[in-house]
Amino acid sequence: MSDPSELALRSTRAIVDLDALAGNIRAFRRIVPEPVRLMAVVKANAYGHGAVMVARTVLAGGASHLGVATVAEGVQLRAAGVSAPILVLGPVAASEVRQAVCHDLALAVGSADLIDDVSAASHHKTSPAVARLHLKVDTGMRRFGCMPAEVSSLVKRIVSDPLLDLEGIFTHFACADEANERPTIAQRAEFDASLAKIAADFDLGKVIRHVANSAATLRSRDYDYDMVRLGIAIYGAAPSADVPLVDGMRPVMSLVSRVARVIQLAAGDRVSYGGTYVATADERAALVPIGYADGYPRGLSNRAWMGVAGARAPVRGRVCMDQTVIGLPPGRAIDVGNDVVVVGSARMGAPSWDGLARLSGTIAYEMVTGIATRVPRVFVQGSMVVATECLGELRAADDVL
Ligand SMILES: *Cc1c(COP(=O)(O)O)cnc(C)c1O
Repeated sequence: MSDPSELALRSTRAIVDLDALAGNIRAFRRIVPEPVRLMAVVKANAYGHGAVMVARTVLAGGASHLGVATVAEGVQLRAAGVSAPILVLGPVAASEVRQAVCHDLALAVGSADLIDDVSAASHHKTSPAVARLHLKVDTGMRRFGCMPAEVSSLVKRIVSDPLLDLEGIFTHFACADEANERPTIAQRAEFDASLAKIAADFDLGKVIRHVANSAATLRSRDYDYDMVRLGIAIYGAAPSADVPLVDGMRPVMSLVSRVARVIQLAAGDRVSYGGTYVATADERAALVPIGYADGYPRGLSNRAWMGVAGARAPVRGRVCMDQTVIGLPPGRAIDVGNDVVVVGSARMGAPSWDGLARLSGTIAYEMVTGIATRVPRVFVQGSMVVATECLGELRAADDVL
């Protein structure tokens, strides 16, 4: 009898190719010259790919810093033994500051109030000696950060406090993925003007200046400064149609399942809730155990397709919470247990993340981050399964059935 602690994975799973991930980091290292540092952005469970395994892989592969959106995401990485510098990119509440400081998470700050909160938290005994701060300057996004006019006074506030370390100063682009580069150039000029104003009074020699996301990094060397912050592209998806990936970059995650039941439809049969698909002739269909609760959007009902035996299998009727029906390509012997590629390559008959995103009126970012934690991530390296993660629980490969 098998050990009940072993994990039997469901048919629907996300395959995370860690070799592709490492290859994407190497591809960035080729275009971004040393000594510019690479920050891998691993917020939102590493864009749905599994934060801990992704963090370990990118750090081994050449990234030096990690970016997260929330304090809890940073704490998760610290608990997994990640000791590399971590920056919390998103706004934090005063109530979270102490936990962040205790775990040596650098914080993005844009107001004197938050800086005061961090200073107060740094008095706490278990904290590291100093709290690391990155001043965020709003150069045009109007989302989070201080205005350029406030930069001098906030830098002064930070550097005059022995409990605080001004580790970085940064901004974020609103339109770097658009064909028109002018708004990005304008934001960069605003950032440069802010730096110039403080350069006379403060030694910024050790302060990490960073502005570029994936799109800015892919399109030009003008945005490198001291570090680039790489998200979507390290996962092998292009930021937009206007900013493609470069040679050597490929998708990291695919989504696969298996046929759970073969359904013989007769002409006139209606499929799934609401009966929105009506078979016009005898047709073989198949049940796939994936639904909108897994992150396969209901908006794909009657629109998307999956790959079966290298051919397209169209979604029939409405996508349900946990199940979807597809029409089987004629002339192929498909049975229960056959592989289904939900997201993968055209060669497998499946749509890409970008393709599926377009079909449901969104972007690849939202598709990948939406894949639910109940979909097991299967981490593959050198053609071997090295680990799995399901419902937040990471397991070594030995424990997997
Ligand atoms: C998410 C994020 C990034 C990464 O953006 P991509 O477009 O995925 O490369 C960079 N910087 C900040 C501040 C972010 O929030």
